[in-house]
Amino acid sequence: MSFTYRVGADGWFDLLDRLFQKIATLRIGCRITAVKEKMGQLRISCNNADDQVLSWIEEARVESARTCQVCGGLGTFRILPGHLAATLCEADAERLSKPIRQRQVLEA
Ligand SMILES: [Zn+2]
Repeated sequence: MSFTYRVGADGWFDLLDRLFQKIATLRIGCRITAVKEKMGQLRISCNNADDQVLSWIEEARVESARTCQVCGGLGTFRILPGHLAATLCEADAERLSKPIRQRQVLEA
């Protein structure tokens, strides 16, 4: 998986887990080839995907667009300082918008 280094995507793991469990119940042997974040949304590539799998992948993308990728709470698309695009809740957006030195002091 490749995610924006500064933000991560722990908040999306439940969402991904649910998608993978659904795909695992199928017999078509579809294989996930890429999971990444683009413009604050999950992008999943899968080979041998049928219409059912594609619709689940689309549902996951739509859900990721309103799920904070840090904590899994309700999130919206934001542009952080440094032109970093991410889907975040209010609290995580504020925390990640602070200069790194100040952030380390607050988290200590
Ligand atoms: Zn959050």
